[in-house]
Amino acid sequence: MSPRPFRTPPERAELLLMLGSGFTVALIVIIVAVLLIREHASTLQAAKRSTTNITQLINADVLRNVELYDLALQGLIAATQRTDLSKVSGDIRHLVQFELSTAAPFKDQVLLLDANGAVVADSSTLKPTSRNLADRDYFLVHKITNQNDLFISRPFMIQCHCEQVWRIAFSRRVTGANGEFLGVAVATMRLAYFDQLFNSLAIGNSSSVNLLSSHGILLAQQPLLERDMINKDLSDRPNFKRMLREGSGSFRAISTITDKERLYTFTNVGELPLIVVVALSSEDVFAPWKRAATLTGGATGILCIGLLWLTWMLRRELRRRFRAEKVLSELAATDALTGLANRRILDQRLRLEWDRAQRSAEPLTLLMIDVDHFKAFNDRHGHHGGDEALRNVAQVIGGNIRRPADLAARYGGEEFAVVLPSTDIRGAWLIAEHIRRGVEHLPRVEGDERPITVSIGLSTWDKRSRMSLEDLQLSADRALYEAKHSGRNCIVEATAR
Ligand code: GH3
Ligand code: MG
Ligand code: MG
Repeated sequence: MSPRPFRTPPERAELLLMLGSGFTVALIVIIVAVLLIREHASTLQAAKRSTTNITQLINADVLRNVELYDLALQGLIAATQRTDLSKVSGDIRHLVQFELSTAAPFKDQVLLLDANGAVVADSSTLKPTSRNLADRDYFLVHKITNQNDLFISRPFMIQCHCEQVWRIAFSRRVTGANGEFLGVAVATMRLAYFDQLFNSLAIGNSSSVNLLSSHGILLAQQPLLERDMINKDLSDRPNFKRMLREGSGSFRAISTITDKERLYTFTNVGELPLIVVVALSSEDVFAPWKRAATLTGGATGILCIGLLWLTWMLRRELRRRFRAEKVLSELAATDALTGLANRRILDQRLRLEWDRAQRSAEPLTLLMIDVDHFKAFNDRHGHHGGDEALRNVAQVIGGNIRRPADLAARYGGEEFAVVLPSTDIRGAWLIAEHIRRGVEHLPRVEGDERPITVSIGLSTWDKRSRMSLEDLQLSADRALYEAKHSGRNCIVEATAR
């Protein structure tokens, strides 16, 4: 049997290396992922903050201007209710009625309608043309529903030779002393006001600022996402319903118009039935983050791949080193001529098995084997032939021990030793006999009638014996000497116990 190989623990070192680098790579990936997630969240926060600021700006501006319109209407109503004004001239009455209208921006007309919808006063002329606006939504609302608050109409275009642009009307009910309907004060405004206001805020191409009525009618949008968006009813859209429900805030959702994700920030304009919505394209918001994430992710990926590659190279190097060490240690433990264990390993193993036998009280047998008349064999066949014969004998010895703990070694010269742990005299004798017979039956060397034979001395330690390890070796040696004297090609068992 070949000597037990010197075992290094490459698997453990490899496992530690793989675990270490795997853990490092996982840690790097986790840290980068956490940083990117945090960066994503803060990008979103920053976008929400800036859009909230925009909605606040719009809110304040719209509120102030609607207030100006409302003041103009309230001034007109107050003037109509003054009895003393009927006594003054038409142009003074006109001046008093529309005194507060001048400040309102993008103003078209301020009109006073009587209870039948006829225009009775017009801010643009002392003598209003005969017109009836009883079919307008604001007139009907005030007349039918007794609406006393400021009403904001749907966008409309006037049938006239004037500029065909979108307008909206602000109106208030003119109520008599007993609450009866006396007419409507109405002011129309060009929606260009909102366009100008929204355009002054740079928010990116694929994003938009919107103004909706609380009924879901789109009053203004900059830039326009589609043609014919103004006056569009969006009241059935889930995003609008959510805004109406929540009053103000921010959320991310898919736009039903662009089918892309957008960040909506919205707020009610004071107590007015208006909602300002700033819709940023998520693509725009996260574009810088995506660029940074791609760069960081790519760099991290390269780093991790590099690390894994280095680990793999190191593992290959480790394996190569372990293999080389193994070969070296096997060489150091092996007899070069026969391939059996050498004397050093024999001494180590004999000591080891001796100690084990002492602990376990299992028998331990040592065979000492010597080739008979080998000097003469050498003389007949030369050193080369002698070496060949030694290799053959070693092969027979090695081939007759099968247990993993058994050891066959070259003791020196043409002498061999076999250590048989947990083997009593009977078992050992059988093995010795197999070896003796195996050698005897080796093919003869050409032209030589004499077979190669061995003499074997055998000594067994068992729990009843009182000998030391040295005694065991000496007694096996003595038994071998006796075998030589008994005519060779035989086995002799040591008598000393
Ligand atoms: P005995 O039966 O009493 O053992 O006689 P022997 O001739 O075998 O014993 P001896 O000790 O007188 O001679 C041993 C010889 O073995 C001497 C040496 O030439 C030979 N020998 C020892 N080692 C080697 C080796 O590695 N190769 C070869 N070819 N011969 C060896
Ligand atoms: Mg000898
Ligand atoms: Mg000999």
